[in-house]
Amino acid sequence: MANKIMSINAGSSSLKFQLFEMPEEELLIKGLFERIGLEDEMFFFYSMKETKVKTSVKGKTHEEAINFLLHFLLERSVLTSLDELSGVGHRVAHGGEDFKTSSLVDQEALKKIKDLSKLAPLHNPVNVVGIEALAKELPDCPQVAVFDTSFHQTMEAKNYVYPLPYRFYEEDSVRRYGFHGTSHQFVASEAASYLEKPLESLKIISCHLGNGASICGIKDGKSVITSMGFTPLAGLMMGTRCGDIDPSIVPFLQNEKNLSASDMDKLMNAESGFKGVTEFSSDTRDIISEAEKGNERAKLALDMFAGRVKQTIGAYAAELDGIDALIFTAGIGENSSEIRQMICEDLTFFGIQIDQNQNQQNSKRISSAASSVEVLVVETNEELMIVRDTFDLI
Ligand code: ADP
Repeated sequence: MANKIMSINAGSSSLKFQLFEMPEEELLIKGLFERIGLEDEMFFFYSMKETKVKTSVKGKTHEEAINFLLHFLLERSVLTSLDELSGVGHRVAHGGEDFKTSSLVDQEALKKIKDLSKLAPLHNPVNVVGIEALAKELPDCPQVAVFDTSFHQTMEAKNYVYPLPYRFYEEDSVRRYGFHGTSHQFVASEAASYLEKPLESLKIISCHLGNGASICGIKDGKSVITSMGFTPLAGLMMGTRCGDIDPSIVPFLQNEKNLSASDMDKLMNAESGFKGVTEFSSDTRDIISEAEKGNERAKLALDMFAGRVKQTIGAYAAELDGIDALIFTAGIGENSSEIRQMICEDLTFFGIQIDQNQNQQNSKRISSAASSVEVLVVETNEELMIVRDTFDLI
């Protein structure tokens, strides 16, 4: 019997989907809806085999998008009947301490995901909208929640408790959770397959460098430490997020500039990072091109970013007591040979050496023969990871 499994990633005004035939992992169709809720129409993009289409669709809710999608799949004969859909996996931002792995969504799980909205107010509620919209259309189809946080639930307390009064952890759940877990887990497992070694035998540092960026130290196949924290604002400098700063800057600027807590939150999430330092872009492509023309601020921002990544690799090498494989993934990690080069420069002490040609070609293995650490560029695929987990659970 055919096992067709769909991944759904619902954002505040978007909904991405991919449909796979399992266990072959054959991608049948993928696409997204954009501008949901902004007007009476939304954009719908899809690609199937060689066909790529962009069109507009009537409706303004996630439910209408899902309704349209299911009819569309039947109309285009991607599905012969909706019963053919064996399961749907949803990306869910926050699983708190309740979800240490992906989980089938029943009433109890749904309630927990809703309760966790306190920790992810911008994301969990909209993930719930996706789950509920699908349940309404397909009440008998099993749904699975795959959390950005659950891979990091293996961290030890010493790496997740903050040095604040302990009661804030106990009463308010303030601790490091970490995010991008699905991506770190996926690329680590791909790297192990590529190296033909058991994942459990490798000490891996995974660098997910996109608009949002985080690093994860992985030992015995488990997350030991990661750079994002209580929220995805922590750790590295990012497109528009500041990452780690001296926490005293927050009350200082609030007083000096008369900013509210939510003004400050917005400033650190949406106006900082590459955008804040360069004052012209959050996109590293623009910044690299300006740096090449001699723009000093662009050079500074790139040096800051690469420096932070390098420092974190050093710290995590200490935490793991060595590195077997260093992985680069996501928009910057997969595409920017310039930034990978900057990060890996002067890391020979750690046994990391890059082959310039392989790096420039975005090859899968970019370490030189002299490097004792395997340096790999691995394309992330969170959707496939979601679908794999869903298939396993159903
Ligand atoms: P998101 O966190 O939004 O999923 P992505 O993983 O798609 O982000 O990464 C987006 C980032 O990747 C952007 O900053 C973009 O500039 C950067 N990027 C994509 N291609 C390149 C490239 N060739 N060179 C440098 N940066 C790139």
